[in-house]
Amino acid sequence: MQNYFLNFSRSPKVAWCTSVGPAELLRSFGFEVYFPENHGALLGTTRKAVDYIPAAVKCGYSGHICSYTTSDIGAFLSDETPLRTHYGLEKIPKPDLIVYNTNQCREVEDWFTFFSKQFNCPIAGIHPPRYLDDVGKAEVELVIKQFKEIIPACERASGNKFDIDRFKEALKLSRVATILWQKVLRTAVASPAPITFFDGTIHMGPIVVLRGTQVAVDYYKTLLEELENNVSNNIGCLKEEECRLFWDGMPIWGRLRMLSDLFLQNNTAVVASTYCNSWIFDDFDENNPFESSALAYTKIFINRSENAKMEFFKRWIHDYGIDGVVFHDSKTCFNNSNAKFGLPQRLTEETGLPALVIEGDLCDTRFFSDGQSITKIESFLEQIDGQKAYL
Ligand code: SF4
Repeated sequence: MQNYFLNFSRSPKVAWCTSVGPAELLRSFGFEVYFPENHGALLGTTRKAVDYIPAAVKCGYSGHICSYTTSDIGAFLSDETPLRTHYGLEKIPKPDLIVYNTNQCREVEDWFTFFSKQFNCPIAGIHPPRYLDDVGKAEVELVIKQFKEIIPACERASGNKFDIDRFKEALKLSRVATILWQKVLRTAVASPAPITFFDGTIHMGPIVVLRGTQVAVDYYKTLLEELENNVSNNIGCLKEEECRLFWDGMPIWGRLRMLSDLFLQNNTAVVASTYCNSWIFDDFDENNPFESSALAYTKIFINRSENAKMEFFKRWIHDYGIDGVVFHDSKTCFNNSNAKFGLPQRLTEETGLPALVIEGDLCDTRFFSDGQSITKIESFLEQIDGQKAYL
């Protein structure tokens, strides 16, 4: 990650991109790609977000909208960044082009538009249809058109002509990395699982910021080898698992350690999550780069209907042998919280699995209560234990 950040001082052209935006297309023009959401996560994990959010609120951004957005804008207005302390970068990388995809939320458009004005930088967006049961030909064709429409802006900002072979090459590297990442996550099908959701939130760094590069491929090859070796030797995060949980929604970045320890102390492995699975794009096909990118980026979980999400949940629950689901109802991320319209209750009705909703936030720790959450989680684990004993 340090090498990745230091590259910005060497790279002639920088494009900003949303975390599930068209990174491969941008890389094909030779841009070094920067992801503001990753910066938001750094502000959350370093627990600095709450220091900066007030500056964004003062500027007119509500404290109840995406705390990646507000902490990132606030840090910029305060002229501060954890990249300085941790990676030696004076400032966040200055963009030559800003590109977003609203497949995850509309917030990214507002957030990136703020920076486009601040840096007087061109901005381009992809706006796929949202909340889909199925992703069909019509939706894919619309998104292909939007992908192609951003090419002139990429050419102007990079000074390079579009080269289909470079696009295919970046997509191929991304496909290989994303399949390896999928295999990494699936090692947790084993019991005891060699990796948990909390490990995943750290190991996902390269699949977010370095997909489309050989570095990401090499990283996940090494990681997969180690995890498969652990599975063969029966080495898990826990010696013996009493309970296997699924985590839905955003990580609570400022409380990763506390939550990870809490579950492990209770002999519970959180083995899978919607969040870490968000960077699996197994539809990528370098022989069909536009169509497969449009399909993969439109099909993602967060962009789907409640019906489609229910099917995703059922598959994960079955594949990972899940005993219960924790829904993180994030105060400032409406889009990646699935506890607001009765999905936990419906899931319990359809699968018989218990579900727990905990209130919190991705970055704004003022919305998270340690005491209340610990009590709720421990009672939930007792409930699962009781149900298992009864069975
Ligand atoms: S999905 Fe949620 S956390 Fe991510 S940028 Fe959108 S509102 Fe923020």
